Amino acid sequence: MPRRHTHSVQVGQVHIGGSAPIVVQSMTNTDTEDAVRTAAQVADLARAGSELVRITVNTMAAAEAVPDIYNRLQKMGVDVPLVGDFHFNGHKLLSAVPECAQSLAKYRINPGNVGRGNKRDEQFAQMIEIAIENDKPVRIGANWGSLDQDLLARMLDENAALPHPKPLDFINREAVITSALESAQRAEEIGLGKDKIIISCKMSRVQDLIQVYETLASRSEYCLHLGLTEAGMGSKGIVASTAALAVLLQRGIGDTIRISLTPEPNGDRTKEVIVGQEILQTMGLRSFTPMVTACPGCGRTSSTYFQELADRIQTYLRDSMPDWKSKYPGVEDMSVAVMGCVVNGPGESKHASIGISLPGTGERPIAPVYIDGEKAVTLKGEHIAEEFQSIVQQYVESHYTP
Ligand code: SF4
Repeated sequence: MPRRHTHSVQVGQVHIGGSAPIVVQSMTNTDTEDAVRTAAQVADLARAGSELVRITVNTMAAAEAVPDIYNRLQKMGVDVPLVGDFHFNGHKLLSAVPECAQSLAKYRINPGNVGRGNKRDEQFAQMIEIAIENDKPVRIGANWGSLDQDLLARMLDENAALPHPKPLDFINREAVITSALESAQRAEEIGLGKDKIIISCKMSRVQDLIQVYETLASRSEYCLHLGLTEAGMGSKGIVASTAALAVLLQRGIGDTIRISLTPEPNGDRTKEVIVGQEILQTMGLRSFTPMVTACPGCGRTSSTYFQELADRIQTYLRDSMPDWKSKYPGVEDMSVAVMGCVVNGPGESKHASIGISLPGTGERPIAPVYIDGEKAVTLKGEHIAEEFQSIVQQYVESHYTP
């Protein structure tokens, strides 16, 4: 599906918008003042495939920690661009700590949290001028949870004066869009180029997000950062984000995505990166890691063996990718099938690069393996999992070595 035309923006060494592939990004949840833990989490997110990582910059100590985080990452060999997330005091922090402004590859400015009244314009301009001086792009990131209250009040008054006022939900959506676009316009008037501006208008309800981004896409050619804000925990967060993003991405809208999942307590932050990649890969928009096709299982397979094998192979593939990515170009397009019985097992396995059809209940205890559509070998006995994994490894080495 064709992508909508947007201005191309360079963030560090990463290109967003224009003809660049859709970029997956994420955000840390460590205290930025703790440079050691924050650098470690940024590195984890980058290794999982996050192409930009945002960190909150909320205090003077956090701003002072940013260059330290940057240097630690350089020493670790992690050169992922860092994005600073600023609210309320960004103008002060960026002015007071020039090394912070230099170390960051992009600044996120929330137009609803820049200040009120006259101070708002002044403080916004101060941040944009710092971005211009440092040759950095900005994301003007409006969020309906922190909407510019002066603007909303103005729009509500204007609406109330209409002979037929529009519904409140409509005004809320229009206010988020107007906040982002008017701020982008102001940034351009101050001197920031269109190729330095990314826009986002995050909403927490799927239908609102779809409507807002469709409108944004029809009114401007700014590069768009897409994400459902406050998506939530577990399957709800994943489903809501996927539902919203899939509709927009299918319409060619969105240049970079972030999945705002609430992790389980002590849960793995990299989940949001994996979900973002899986949305793009399952839609056929980008490839990141070989995907496992597995059947859901049913009464024809009463053991958990095939589920364990599917999980083991998916984990093995994902864990191998950081090493494989440079060694075996194109390996991310490989597909692997792990199927539970003879009903769909051989057919699905033949469609994959490599597939295994495990024996269902009452079937002969053998597992035919298919390579590029042809039956290659039949596994049996106690070590099917190890042998299948080794067949996958051999396939990678023989098919993707440059
Ligand atoms: S392939 Fe076999 S085990 Fe898997 S869902 Fe289909 S019938 Fe059930």
